[in-house]
Formats: sequence, structure tokens, C-alpha cells
Amino acid sequence: MFGEPLPPGAGGLSTNYRYGMTWDGTLAPHHGSDYTSALGQPVIAVGAGTVFYGGPDMGPFFGIKPDFYGNVVVIKLDTAWNETDVYALYGHLDTVLVQTGAAVSAGEVLGTVGETGVAYGPHLHFEIRIGDDPTIYTRVRNPELWLRPQPFHGVLAGRVVNAAGYLVPGQRVYYECANSRKRHVDTYWDIYTPSDRVLLENFVAGNILAGECVVTTEWAGTRIEKTTRIEKGKLSFVVLTLPD
Ligand SMILES: [Zn+2]
Repeated sequence: MFGEPLPPGAGGLSTNYRYGMTWDGTLAPHHGSDYTSALGQPVIAVGAGTVFYGGPDMGPFFGIKPDFYGNVVVIKLDTAWNETDVYALYGHLDTVLVQTGAAVSAGEVLGTVGETGVAYGPHLHFEIRIGDDPTIYTRVRNPELWLRPQPFHGVLAGRVVNAAGYLVPGQRVYYECANSRKRHVDTYWDIYTPSDRVLLENFVAGNILAGECVVTTEWAGTRIEKTTRIEKGKLSFVVLTLPD
């Protein structure tokens, strides 16, 4: 697992538009995680690696059209996973402070938060991509599975399936954990925001304080509920099966 893409105090995850979510149907399913931040805040390497590309998203292209991510930095991380290369992508940067081909260490400043490319206001768009070609837009994974939780926190992941066992898209999942208020996450909307090939999850909520979690969803007036325990530094997995 990797570190955070912003230094402490420089911003936090925006939970309204997590990986695979659509901001209540108004935006395309999200390919990464957005971090609320301010113009000019530093973005840092989540792990040691090599800069695959740093510069304008104008060739190679990383998005669905030229300049989608504006100024972009893509790091090939030194840690491969299941013999697959892992890349971290930082989009909409104001400035790029590393050069293509440079070696970077974990925590090294790569550039600054901006609003270049297709962005509404300054924020960091962060992605994890896997495979041998990080320019392929759909080779993404949920970044919340790849970042180390804060101390005393763990990760909740799971799957909402129908009675036949198929993943159900766009299903709202509520979770109420430890002493925190009820929060929610939606299951991945489409096949272009894929699951991890081993977990086959369709929702993830990272950084949850260790303790008991009640996870619920509703379908045709029926409430489906599972209880799980979040353990520090670990992943807890729940399966919610919708009635026929
Ligand atoms: Zn984004």
C-alpha cells in the first residue's frame, strides 16, 4: 500500500465523487479520487518510482480527449502487484516540478494543485492505473484500495450483488461505523470503472476508524444489513445480496 498524494493538512478526499460514482447522476463515472485542496498546494509521490510522464496531457493522452487532465504527472511505482505494473496519476496540476524519466522517492513533491484541463475549481484528481500501458483510460482501479489507512483506521470494501450473483451498479450503500455519523458510497456505475480482479468489489470506503460497522442498502422497500468489524490497517469485506 502507498501513502497519501497530499502532505498532511494540504487537503482531503472528496467523498461525493468517489471512484465509480456519478455525483448523483450528474457526471460520468469517476476514474479516480478527488481531493479538495487549494491552488498551489504541493502534491507528493505516494511511493518510490520513476516519472513515466510529466507535462501537459497533450500526447501521450491519459484522458478521453486531449488536455483532459491538464498538466499531469504519472509515476511508475517501484512496487509491482501480482507481476503487474502500478502507476499513480495526478491530474489538473498547476505546475509540474518533475521531469519525465526522473526517479522520485516516496513523499517527494511532484507539482502543485491546480485546475488545468477539465476541472471545476482547484483540486487534485488522483488515479491508480495498472498494466503495461498507463495511457489506457480504462485500466484503472479504486485508489482507496491502494492507500494506507491513517493510524487506527482500516478499509471497508464489498460487493452488492443480485440474487443471481451479478454486481449491481449505482446502488447506494450506507455505513455507520464506530462513533461516526452515517455515510454513504455508491457501487461502481459501469465497466469502465472496474473492480480489483481478486476482490471483485464494487464499493470501497477507505480510512474508517477501527470498530464495528453496520452496512446497509435498500432494494424495493427491503433493507439489507450486514455488520462487520474494521480493524486497524486491514481490509474488511462485506457482501450484500439483494432479494429477487
Ligand atoms: Zn476527478
